Amino acid sequence: MTVPIENLLDTDAMLAPEELDLRATVRRFGEQRLRPHIAEWFEAGGVPVRELSAELGKLGLLGMHLNGYGCGGSTATAYGVVCQELEAVDSGLRSMVSVQGSLAMFAIYRHGSEEQRQQWLPGMAAGEVIGCFGLTEPDFGSNPSGMRTTARRDGSDWIVSGSKMWITNGTEADLAIVWARAEEGIVGFVVPTDCPGFSAREMTRKLSLRASITAELYLDEVRLPADAQLPEARGLSGPLACLSEARFGIVFGSVGAARDCLETTLDYVAARDVFGKPLAGYQLTQEKLADMAVELGKAQLLALHLGRLKDAGRIRPDQVSFGKLNNVREALQIARQCRTLLGANGITLEYPVLRHANNLESVLTYEGTSEVHQLVIGEALTGVSAFR
Ligand SMILES: Cc1cc2nc3c(=O)[nH]c(=O)nc-3n(C[C@H](O)[C@H](O)[C@H](O)COP(=O)(O)OP(=O)(O)OC[C@H]3O[C@@H](n4cnc5c(N)ncnc54)[C@H](O)[C@@H]3O)c2cc1C
Repeated sequence: MTVPIENLLDTDAMLAPEELDLRATVRRFGEQRLRPHIAEWFEAGGVPVRELSAELGKLGLLGMHLNGYGCGGSTATAYGVVCQELEAVDSGLRSMVSVQGSLAMFAIYRHGSEEQRQQWLPGMAAGEVIGCFGLTEPDFGSNPSGMRTTARRDGSDWIVSGSKMWITNGTEADLAIVWARAEEGIVGFVVPTDCPGFSAREMTRKLSLRASITAELYLDEVRLPADAQLPEARGLSGPLACLSEARFGIVFGSVGAARDCLETTLDYVAARDVFGKPLAGYQLTQEKLADMAVELGKAQLLALHLGRLKDAGRIRPDQVSFGKLNNVREALQIARQCRTLLGANGITLEYPVLRHANNLESVLTYEGTSEVHQLVIGEALTGVSAFR
């Protein structure tokens, strides 16, 4: 008798019936609608963002953890579970949902005016309006406080100039949340991408997260009315609050990618004969499988624990850093180890393991690199900031 990986620790018992139902729905969507195409999208270096966004919107997955404005008002844990199922197919697909719901929509939800929420959120929840989130610049990634994009007032208007880099869905978006430096500090704007002076160019030749569109944004003296500013965003804490939301989704999502690798590998080692018997029957193989299952189980417990903390309104940013650091690092290790067990087959797109490993290299870097999260945890432990 074999025990499915998910049942090893009986973590399903920690999920509510409606969370399990939602998981089943999204898993079915992932297997039937997404997985059959993912290798092709990854190879081609793109995804049909508009088509998929409309379908994800119909399923109620965009901004699902926000309340009102056409959003689902789900628990944070339910949102995490959805991220897990999407990332079990590909990190790029989970990124699409994270950027729309946790970065672009959340920025408007948390920092926007009532008029901005009513204007943008229902269309975004339906997947009819696509958003992107422009924080990173060519010279400022981990340290966004150094950003060079500027916003200056001209009468009641704003003039925004600068460039952003590595922006997910930048060429597909109808609106960009753009962060800029003004006299009073960092400010945020909702920028319709058809504004004169705004342009986006796709970044190609990526070796990771290929089933996701990444772009550079250029803002050349873009004139915006006063009401394009996000009135409640004050300083760097504005974008950082959004990043914390997206990082939370990654805590769960990365476990999905690792689970997919391990499930694939368990099937593979059962079927693959080496030296006259199944690869699954060797002690060296079982050591790898057991160690991976232990790390996967721990990562899932951590995700669920953080989910419940967030649902209770008690989660702290350093706890999200804890989860992102551990779960992405371990997921990447699992993906690489699974690759060894698949031998040469592991390097192909016939199997998901190297695709997941390559994707997880991006996941390790975006939404705060591992080093940034180590520094956040280090500061929480010592009270001393070691960023500079
Ligand atoms: C596929 C992809 C999609 C992305 N999507 C978006 C998006 O939609 N929107 C957006 O705004 N950004 C996005 N990003 C950008 C991402 O957030 C940045 O790449 C990330 O913040 C790291 O910045 P950087 O690449 O400039 O690296 P750097 O900041 O230059 O870091 C380089 C290295 O230095 C280390 N380092 C930095 N500071 C310290 C320190 N104080 N002490 C020790 N080590 C340090 C880092 O950990 C890293 O190892 C995306 C990136 C990728 C790869």
